[in-house]
Amino acid sequence: MSKRTSFFFDERAFWHSAGQYNAMIPVGRWVQPSSAGGYVDSPESKRRLKNLMDVAGLSAKLSMCSGEAASERDLLRIHPQAYVDRFKELSKAGSGELGFHAPVGPGSYEVAAISAGLAIAAVQAVFKGDADNAYALSRPAGHHCLPDQGMGACLLANIAIAIEAAKADGGLGKVAVLDWDVHHGNGTQSIFYSRSDVLTLSIHQEGCFPPGYSGAEDRGVGDGEGANINIPLLPGSGHASYIEAMRRIVIPALERFKPDLIIVASGFDANAVDPMARMLLHSDSFREMTRMVKDAAQRLCNGRLVVVHEGGYSEAYVPFCALAVVEELSGVRTEVDDPLRDWIEQQQPRTAQRDLQSELISQMVNDLGLPMDG
Ligand code: ZN
Repeated sequence: MSKRTSFFFDERAFWHSAGQYNAMIPVGRWVQPSSAGGYVDSPESKRRLKNLMDVAGLSAKLSMCSGEAASERDLLRIHPQAYVDRFKELSKAGSGELGFHAPVGPGSYEVAAISAGLAIAAVQAVFKGDADNAYALSRPAGHHCLPDQGMGACLLANIAIAIEAAKADGGLGKVAVLDWDVHHGNGTQSIFYSRSDVLTLSIHQEGCFPPGYSGAEDRGVGDGEGANINIPLLPGSGHASYIEAMRRIVIPALERFKPDLIIVASGFDANAVDPMARMLLHSDSFREMTRMVKDAAQRLCNGRLVVVHEGGYSEAYVPFCALAVVEELSGVRTEVDDPLRDWIEQQQPRTAQRDLQSELISQMVNDLGLPMDG
């Protein structure tokens, strides 16, 4: 049993709503409004993770914490004043959009500040040694958010805000952010694009979101040249391709960069039943990726690892995938069985697709100057 994994959550994070915004497909004309509201980012995928942890007895074995809401000063290290002011206005008005698919509901500013605050608290806990590793159940998510506009259900750049808060406190050196949300971590990439002290890595479904973006050639600029790595995978990729990308690109890139802290932007929308993407992962895929990054953190930075929750839209299945991550972080295995694991296992792509993806990964390994171990 370990109390050394801290889990940061706050009920209010589940209370962000999209106001009048209805769906990814705007309603009206030919699109009938959904009776259930229809906004894709329901709080249930996240709340049900916490509920599953409670019922399975996992919460009792962790250090369960909350955090202070991020202050305006914290936000201003990343976001311009004009953006923060506009966000506050829309939040007070109770509806509006902060950018491309970034709806705001009543009180969303306060909730988003709490969400960013959970990421800040998780980074501080690990950085200061109060916890070996930590998980922040942030909502709304952050990885699509740009400094001056929200995007893709992300209203504040949670992880970037947390990194800058820890840097402002002094002492935090090099940070690697590994984003395995199925969508590209475009916000985090753009914030740190010219920085050499933050390595940003994103494994994502090619062309999924932002729509049409792949990003394999985008490596950073100026001081940040080489400190941004994108790993676009073919739609339909499964467990084997993700593990191969981790083994041949992510882990060697972390070893080359030598971070002082690793943060995972952990979306769960690469799971096989997610409505927002077309990949084929199951809970043991997330478990194994967590094990790999935890081992790397052990070797490279005294185990300092923070996982921040991003996307994932299957209310029923995200809890099982995220539970596997928290189990692996804490070393506590519960009796919970993933009800879909065997089914998804049988849906994995056949050899021909895996071989094609493997060839594409080899090209990326070569382009990135990483060791060719096959
Ligand atoms: Zn996503």
